[in-house]
Parts: sequence; structure tokens; C-alpha cells
Amino acid sequence: MDCVDCIVVGAGVVGLALARELAIRGLEVVVLEAEDRIGTGISSRNSEVIHAGIYYPAGSLKARTCVAGNRALYAYCAQHHVDHRRCGKLIVATDATQVEALRQLRSRAEANGVGDLQWLSAEEARHLEPLIHCTAALLSPSTGIIDSHGLMRSLCLEAETAGAMVVLKSPVLDGRVTPQGLEVRIGGDEPMTLLARRVFNAAGLGAISLARAFEGARPSSLPPLPRRFAKGNYFSLTGAAPFSRLVYPIPPLGALGVHLTLDLAGQARFGPDVEWIDREEYDVDPYRADSFCAEVRKYWPGLPDGSLQPAYAGIRPKLHGPGEPAPDFLIQREDAHGLPGLVNLLGIESPGLTACLALAEEVAG
Ligand SMILES: Cc1cc2nc3c(=O)[nH]c(=O)nc-3n(C[C@H](O)[C@H](O)[C@H](O)COP(=O)(O)OP(=O)(O)OC[C@H]3O[C@@H](n4cnc5c(N)ncnc54)[C@H](O)[C@@H]3O)c2cc1C
Repeated sequence: MDCVDCIVVGAGVVGLALARELAIRGLEVVVLEAEDRIGTGISSRNSEVIHAGIYYPAGSLKARTCVAGNRALYAYCAQHHVDHRRCGKLIVATDATQVEALRQLRSRAEANGVGDLQWLSAEEARHLEPLIHCTAALLSPSTGIIDSHGLMRSLCLEAETAGAMVVLKSPVLDGRVTPQGLEVRIGGDEPMTLLARRVFNAAGLGAISLARAFEGARPSSLPPLPRRFAKGNYFSLTGAAPFSRLVYPIPPLGALGVHLTLDLAGQARFGPDVEWIDREEYDVDPYRADSFCAEVRKYWPGLPDGSLQPAYAGIRPKLHGPGEPAPDFLIQREDAHGLPGLVNLLGIESPGLTACLALAEEVAG
């Protein structure tokens, strides 16, 4: 059996960015994707925001790859004509008790190297966004929005142009170490096995179960399969968007809060909230609109009754449960799990889209 340099499992934004990076470095790459199209997983169900790197603990992989990824992504979009807009965002304290939390966010951002935040009084914020209600705000000029599917198409094309092969309908079932390399077993219509020197597990919501399916992995290294899933629901706004920038509240534990984002056509949507569920499902319960209205009216009191429509939902690939703080991205190599050649990318939740290019460079390096 031939042995390829690298197998990347998963054709989401992270797997595709990694495949591109490895192929550009001259390695032979095969991407194995379970579905019949690229980018149908978490990467198709998010806020499409290019984050600045404000929220994450200093020195964490999330902070480093978000800040570096933000710059890399803007440069990439400009060079490869991926639709995006550097629209900026406001983070708002909606009463006096939140102002200290806003100050802490500014300090955290500065520690992460985000040097462009501007502190705004309520009046200055209203000068930018006349309909906003706040006590104070932070303006983040380097936050933006992106066409995530356009990005994935571009990454895929570049990876293929550099020689990578993207194989669809190829779910990886399990793997094992052999003297010739890592052997992975592929299911689907045409089951087969493949040998590779390196296997990168970028399977998103499937990454933990795939990590556990590699024979001989050190059990203590493997996170448990999630018993509960952190679903995030979105509602879209009927009618014109009230703001020209994104608007975020002070973040609650483990999430960014029900924020307002814009798509590239200028349509506003709200979300994601956090709903802990027992199985993977994506229906948006229309009755959640009431709790959304309550959250949104804290910063936009003018939200008209009945103007929120259920939109879509996503599930965060979390490594933790309800009420616990979010851990860092987890990149596991041989020293962690004991299997030469296997790299697991686990817990790649937000800001994974923003971080994808920087994460790919870090992992490929
Ligand atoms: C609600 C929500 C909002 C978010 N908002 C933002 C945001 O605004 N900005 C930001 O930067 N980040 C955001 N994120 C995070 C970002 O979307 C993710 O970090 C990123 O999309 C993860 O990409 P991925 O490639 O790791 O996973 P995925 O896109 O899920 O890709 C994994 C792929 O692996 C495939 N797969 C799974 N198992 C197997 C297998 N055994 N064999 C073969 N293939 C397999 C799947 O089919 C899938 O295509 C958000 C996430 C959520 C959930």
C-alpha cells in the first residue's frame, strides 16, 4: 500500500486551511471528508465574524491564533477576492454595573496585542450608532465579517492547485499505528484503508470520537465524549438593520452573548444564545424569540415586537460542560496520546474561523 505524507480528516475551514498550508509546503496531502460537499459542518453554522482577539486569556492558543489569524485573514481575503467587510463592532455596557467588566475586556485585549480599541462614552457611541443604548462602549475597528463559504472554496482551490486531493463521502472510521505509518480505515460507498506518515484529525464535532477510535491512544489523554451539546440559536431581523457595525453585549460565561451581526448583504441577525441539549439537532424553537427580545432590548430598546424570525443554529465543539469556563484549543501530538504521526485538533470552537490560517501554520509547523 502506498504511504502518503499527510491525511487531513475533515473539510471544514480548519481542515482546508491546514491542507492548503501543508500542500503549499510541498507535502502530499489527501483530505478525507465524510459528507458529499466541503464545509457543511460547524463552519457553515456560525456568525461569520472576523474576531479581533479581545476575549481570550493572554498567551492562550485562542488569543495568539485569533490575533494573528485576524491579520492573515484580511490579507488573504484581499489577495484572493473573498468577500468580507471590516465593519467594526461595539461592545456595550448597558448599565453602570457593567462598566468595570468593559474595562477588564479592554485590558485583556491589550494584553493580547489588540491595540486599536477605542473607549467611547454613551454620547460618542450614539454619535456612531444613533439607536444604541449604552452607558459606555468599546469600539473594535478590526472586527469584520466574511463569506465563510467563499473562504472555504478559495482554500480548497488553493490546496488542490498545490496538489492536494479532496475526497468526499469518505468517513474515517478508525486508525492504528503500523511499522509503515498510520493506517486509517475509510467507510462510505467504497471502503478502503490508507497509509500516511501524518494524520491530522480536524473533524470538528466528530474529532473526539475519531481521536478515541485510534488504537492504542493513551486513555488519560482523551477527552470524554460530550454528553451535552452547546447549541447556539440565531434569529434574523425582518426589515432594515438598525446599526452599521456589529453590537456585542458584555459576554456571559463561556459565550459571547446574544449579539447583533450583519451579513454581507446588510441583513441583521441576533445570536447565538447557549442552549445545552442532549443530542445533535439544529431546529430553532420560535418561542426562544421572547428571551432574545429581552437580551437585545438591553442595547436596542427600539426592537419592534414580532420582528425576529427563527434563522438557523450551530453547535460548538466544546471540551467542557454547562457552567464551566471554556478551555483553550487543544492540539494533541504524540507526546500527549502516544501515537506517532497523529495530530488531534480538539475543541476548535470560536474563534476557529478567524484563527484558521494561523492555526494551520502553527499545526503544520
Ligand atoms: C454558533 C457558532 C458561532 C460561531 N461564530 C464564529 C465567528 O463568528 N467567528 C469565528 O471565528 N468562529 C466562530 N465559530 C467557530 C467556528 O465556526 C469553528 O471554530 C470552525 O468552523 C471549526 O471548523 P472545523 O473545520 O474545525 O469544523 P467543521 O466545519 O465542523 O469541519 C469538520 C468536518 O469534518 C467532517 N468529519 C467529521 N467526522 C469525520 C470523519 N470521521 N471522517 C471524515 N470527515 C469527518 C465533517 O463532516 C466536517 O465537514 C462559531 C461556532 C459556532 C458553533
